Amino acid sequence: MRLAIFALLMAVLAFAYQGNAAEFTCNSDVPTESYSPEEQALVDTYWDEVLTYLGAYHAVLTQPSGRCLDSAEAVIQTYDGHTGTQQSRCIMRYSDVKQVMSHVKAVLDEPEKAKACFDPQKPDANPMLYTPSVTVQQSTKVSRWLNRPLLTDYYREMGGEVGQSGLELNKNFLEITTRTNALPHWPTDVSINGLPVLWSSVGWLPMYSKRPDAINKRFRGGYLYAEVMGPYGNLRIDTIDEEKVEAEIGLTVQLFNSAYPFHHHDPQEIYINLTLPKCVDQNTYALMHWDNPALIQERRNDGWAVHVDGASGAWKQWFRNLNTRTGWLAYIERNAIHAFFLKEGCNQTIENSGLVTSWARTTSRTSDQNTHICEPALAGGESMMPWTKGICHIRE
Ligand code: ZN
Repeated sequence: MRLAIFALLMAVLAFAYQGNAAEFTCNSDVPTESYSPEEQALVDTYWDEVLTYLGAYHAVLTQPSGRCLDSAEAVIQTYDGHTGTQQSRCIMRYSDVKQVMSHVKAVLDEPEKAKACFDPQKPDANPMLYTPSVTVQQSTKVSRWLNRPLLTDYYREMGGEVGQSGLELNKNFLEITTRTNALPHWPTDVSINGLPVLWSSVGWLPMYSKRPDAINKRFRGGYLYAEVMGPYGNLRIDTIDEEKVEAEIGLTVQLFNSAYPFHHHDPQEIYINLTLPKCVDQNTYALMHWDNPALIQERRNDGWAVHVDGASGAWKQWFRNLNTRTGWLAYIERNAIHAFFLKEGCNQTIENSGLVTSWARTTSRTSDQNTHICEPALAGGESMMPWTKGICHIRE
């Protein structure tokens, strides 16, 4: 009898285990490397911080905030032309976010399996991934071991206005990224203060440095992006239980006194502000659906030309202050038009001089992943500010 009960118990346990066990397949470009025990210890440290970040990311979106009882509340429009107010929604009600969260949860439930898809992205195979500066590189054992090329060298060589702002951002990367406050919404400090190995070891990309279509030179040099999980990140999972993994989760940094022009893209996006601003309107952003009545839509054969005209102070209605308590989370629907405007003001010093965010996209397999920057309405325009007339081409 005892044996029978034991056997039954084992069967129940085996069934329960199977119910939990997910099957992971990695992207085909994840290398199978063998590390020395010393190297393995460094890889393990890096992986631990990646897991902490993903765990905190899962918690921050699924825990109630604002008016939402079962999810975080996200701003989905900073200005709705129908109502004249900001618009928000419970973020977990979007199916793409829900799916990304279920995949992140699967990673957290079985980290050892997911770890097979973790790649520290050593520089010999990834020469296009950088570390901001020598100070950042020297700050942890893992970043010293990875020894990526430095963005300070990259921008020094580039020169010109883009090179200059790139140097300003990367030389001061630590000052800019440490003035953050992940609380009150995050369960742990996911900024560089709490996860120094992750921030110093992840591969940073000078995303707009060679993109003249982003117009603003100070912004083009003063912007960095890094991918932790996703098609170009450290954790590259192809499928979980035969379902394609669409998550793309990373980090961004933007230099003060710079304007990220209005832009849009097919994949939906999530931004969480981590910077503690020195004055209330230091960092601002605008987010509007392309069919927002505050904009002018013109039908074209292949979609819509959307005229964005922030002149005569209209832009001031659209842009909202970014802080870490309210308006800290934004969800960007497909082709929603958005921009980030960081002012020079409030006795700016380099120690408090940018915008640091946790960034994600939720449909990383959509065919068009490109970020489309809206064009200046007047050809040859040299800057794209919140008040500059622009045209965004939304394709169907
Ligand atoms: Zn975007």
